[in-house]
Amino acid sequence: MKEEWRYIFSKGVFEGEFRFMEPMKNHTSLRIGGPADVFVIPQDPLSLRNLQVNFKKMQIPYFPLGGGTNILVKDGGIEGVVISFKSFKRIEVIREDNKYVDLSVEAGTPLQGLVNFSKWNGYSGIEGLTGIPGTVGGAVCGNAGAFGYEMKAVLISVWMIDAEGRLERFKAEDIDFGYRRSGISPAELLLSAEIRLMKDKKEDVSARVDSFLKEKRKRQPISAPSAGCVFKNPDGLSAGKLIDEAGCKGMRIGDVEVSNLHANFFINKGEAKASDFIRLMEKVALRVKEKFGIVLEPEIRIIGRDA
Ligand SMILES: Cc1cc2nc3c(=O)[nH]c(=O)nc-3n(C[C@H](O)[C@H](O)[C@H](O)COP(=O)(O)OP(=O)(O)OC[C@H]3O[C@@H](n4cnc5c(N)ncnc54)[C@H](O)[C@@H]3O)c2cc1C
Repeated sequence: MKEEWRYIFSKGVFEGEFRFMEPMKNHTSLRIGGPADVFVIPQDPLSLRNLQVNFKKMQIPYFPLGGGTNILVKDGGIEGVVISFKSFKRIEVIREDNKYVDLSVEAGTPLQGLVNFSKWNGYSGIEGLTGIPGTVGGAVCGNAGAFGYEMKAVLISVWMIDAEGRLERFKAEDIDFGYRRSGISPAELLLSAEIRLMKDKKEDVSARVDSFLKEKRKRQPISAPSAGCVFKNPDGLSAGKLIDEAGCKGMRIGDVEVSNLHANFFINKGEAKASDFIRLMEKVALRVKEKFGIVLEPEIRIIGRDA
């Protein structure tokens, strides 16, 4: 092990796990991606902060990873360090009255863990997020949403370690949220989110969650390896519908295929490569442009280096 890593991972500075040359296909819903130089799972906020300060000092690039459900990692893997938030998954009630409940939710909490917690307790506000995989951190960073529900609508504030290594609280209104995006920069590490939900009848919340999930299952191939919607919906239009009408359903390059159920989902049919995925994206985007004159923009984040 190089000297710099020996220091970074020494006792007292870092508690957690670390691995070298970790295949990212094991950490993405698409099951695609070459190795990360280093993959770390810090166990506590201090270790996370120490990592970030040291990476900055030593100019080592880092990438915060949630559930890996909205990213495409290139075949050459990721230079530097991938930071996993796996160890941060606590949900805590911090305030409540007869109308509202405020929760503190750690960034690595599976979003579906939070949806289920709300369903079991009769807390309303995130029913439409049912079936969206990944973590709460990823959902805040990308302002995940569906069926008219969005993460930003329930967010009060977040705790983040900023690019300078300072632990700070940011109010939701000071974060620039947009459609499937936020102003949180890749250098910032989101530790937890405070959200406000409304108290409601358990059976009503439960019925809404179940009906949205049923609808999602009908419309999207949610059990096949994908990264969700590949392209953003252009203003007032559906990217899936445009791709479908451009005749792209079932189109395939290598082991990547445009889903026959929802054309904005590309599926890994076996041993797909990121380079094939990107080529298919280009081909589909070109078809849509030729047919409708509309330029599709990626919703998934493409990261890493070419093979
Ligand atoms: C079957 C399927 C269905 C989907 N349906 C929907 C849907 O209906 N609506 C929707 O909006 N999305 C959907 N998605 C996309 C995806 O699940 C969401 O965007 C999800 O919120 C991403 O969360 P993640 O934890 O996997 O983030 P990742 O993919 O791991 O990361 C996404 C971005 O967030 C950043 N990030 C993650 N955690 C942190 C952190 N703690 N601190 C700082 N930065 C962080 C990463 O650096 C990256 O830039 C779907 C995906 C799949 C596979």
